[in-house]
Amino acid sequence: MSLQQHTNFDDHAEVMFVCDPPSGLRAIIALHRIWQKPSVGGCRLKSYASDDEAMGDVLRLSRGMTYKSVMAGLTFGGAKAVILSAPDEHQRAAQMRAMAQITQRIGGRFRTGVDFGLNANDIEIMQHETPFVFGDSVVPPSKATAQGVLISMKTAVKHRHQRTSLQGLRVAVAGLGKVGMRLAEMLNREGAIVFAADVNDECLREASQTLGVQPIDVEGAHAADVDVYCPCALGAVLNESTIRSMRASIIVGSANNQLAEQQDGERLSEQGILYAPDYIVNAGGLLAVAAELEGESTAWINQKLDALSDTLSNVFDTASKRSISPDVAADLLAEQRIATLQRSCSLESREGRSSDDVPAGGHGSGDRPQIRDAATG
Ligand code: NAD
Repeated sequence: MSLQQHTNFDDHAEVMFVCDPPSGLRAIIALHRIWQKPSVGGCRLKSYASDDEAMGDVLRLSRGMTYKSVMAGLTFGGAKAVILSAPDEHQRAAQMRAMAQITQRIGGRFRTGVDFGLNANDIEIMQHETPFVFGDSVVPPSKATAQGVLISMKTAVKHRHQRTSLQGLRVAVAGLGKVGMRLAEMLNREGAIVFAADVNDECLREASQTLGVQPIDVEGAHAADVDVYCPCALGAVLNESTIRSMRASIIVGSANNQLAEQQDGERLSEQGILYAPDYIVNAGGLLAVAAELEGESTAWINQKLDALSDTLSNVFDTASKRSISPDVAADLLAEQRIATLQRSCSLESREGRSSDDVPAGGHGSGDRPQIRDAATG
């Protein structure tokens, strides 16, 4: 199959297949959209069954980053890198160095950082080779992500139950990792009754002892008798089978790609479950990275996190008005924002303006056309 025929191709701006024979590195770098600012997305290392599967993954993920960026009120195009090889430990450092040198050669229009399969040591090695690898944000991305989940949960609860407090609300958190554990702490402070599941007994015990979290089964977490189900581990947890047994009326969580397939958004709506689209809910990590790239402060991150609430309300209202599911409404609003940015970039390049002329702020600043649905501005 040619690249252009790939289901996830979506007119990607650049797709690079890169190799470094001495280290054995093989990787794909995809830049979904290139606007005035760099295209941004993490680098993952994964063992794929085939190059085609890796291509599908990188295209889908870089496209997802564009959607996440615009819905968080940012103007970065989305990007992603996947390292295909599963290196022996002695090759690993050489592959990271090679990947960083390639990133350096791309010249700053692609910025990357940690994603699935990479660790802090890999990032440190890469940062020796290039300034285009991020990893020193003022707020840890997982903390900003947890904050965004909490804000989104409050918005969804207000929309569904017309209440502003989480006091006494029963919440099931599936996954007590970097995001889930912080979120459990925040929910605890808000007076919610927190249930949690994790395949790792150690973090479950810790959460139970320090926060009074009530442990539940991993297999049954989605069907727990709670008000809110909060997936913070794996993707594709919302599928035909799990949706059927769900008792929560609201789903808000940090996991990426929660819907196993497109129809699952509709299935949730038919069952009266309010689903908060994942790429809006979990944008906090990207906001922390954006602050690092733009030299912005913690206050700027908090302001953008608060704005996620208006964006989500807009999505819920659009979904109600048009009788569509929130995931479809989110995609429609994201696509409007993408089209507006695309037009604004074409206009600027036709007028011969360089990127230095463009105001550093997000959309709506300076003479950049306003994004009409923008809830963040
Ligand atoms: P993490 O690896 O730190 O934590 C994941 C946790 O889930 C671990 O404790 C693991 O034991 C547990 N787990 C694994 N399988 C499970 C299962 N079947 N049921 C219950 N628990 C299970 O990851 P994280 O950084 O906390 O991220 C959580 C999710 O949020 C991921 O899907 C990630 O892609 C997404 N996300 C994270 C960030 C971020 O800033 N860290 C940003 C956006 C999205």
